[in-house]
Amino acid sequence: MGVVKEQKKKGIYGKVTSILDKETLLRCLLEEARTCSVEVFPGINVDNVTTGNDSVTAEGSGQTFSGKYLVAADGINSPIARIMGFNDNRAYYCQFRAITYHMKGVELPEPDAGYNITGFVKEGPAMLFVHKRATAEEYVFIVATIHPLIDLKATADYFMKDSFLRPLVQRCPDFENIFRQRQLLQPHR
Ligand SMILES: Cc1cc2nc3c(=O)[nH]c(=O)nc-3n(C[C@H](O)[C@H](O)[C@H](O)COP(=O)(O)OP(=O)(O)OC[C@H]3O[C@@H](n4cnc5c(N)ncnc54)[C@H](O)[C@@H]3O)c2cc1C
Repeated sequence: MGVVKEQKKKGIYGKVTSILDKETLLRCLLEEARTCSVEVFPGINVDNVTTGNDSVTAEGSGQTFSGKYLVAADGINSPIARIMGFNDNRAYYCQFRAITYHMKGVELPEPDAGYNITGFVKEGPAMLFVHKRATAEEYVFIVATIHPLIDLKATADYFMKDSFLRPLVQRCPDFENIFRQRQLLQPHR
């Protein structure tokens, strides 16, 4: 957060975040688990859980797994917690959605700085992030929102081509660079 040049003068204390590559993180975690003799069963969608006196059984995708404990590490909207009735009183507020593009050929004056903007399209607010990828000479361009009616792809196009950013683009050569030089690869959802 702040002015990049000023933050850099502070050295390590000027850094407010760090970026890691989730694909690499997950691959390393998987390798570590296998090194510790953990058996991994990919592609199983747990859709039923039953408990016994001293055991628990999870079923899904035609397979059954039994053990003493079941750890539900299936995300913030945990279907397993729902199956077990733990989320019965939970209120639903919103869903955070994002579309991510990988960009090549971007030359930013501050290549290791991240850019975060909150803006408005006609349906409501959306956020725009541009960050360098940790392990590749590419940038990510993310458009995210909690607004249910916002079309993420149309909003990404709008941000890139005709947005309210236009005046900012004129003032800020960084963004002009991004928009002129972007070479979009396939989007990831
Ligand atoms: C768009 C977006 C951007 C984000 N950006 C950042 C960021 O920049 N930095 C940051 O720190 N955090 C970020 N987060 C948050 C971060 O992704 C989460 O906090 C983190 O992934 C939670 O990890 P988890 O292991 O609890 O759950 P998850 O990563 O959600 O993993 C849950 C796993 O359980 C599996 N699963 C679900 N249901 C079942 C089932 N019934 N049976 C079997 N498996 C099931 C899913 O397939 C998934 O693999 C972001 C989140 C989103 C959505």
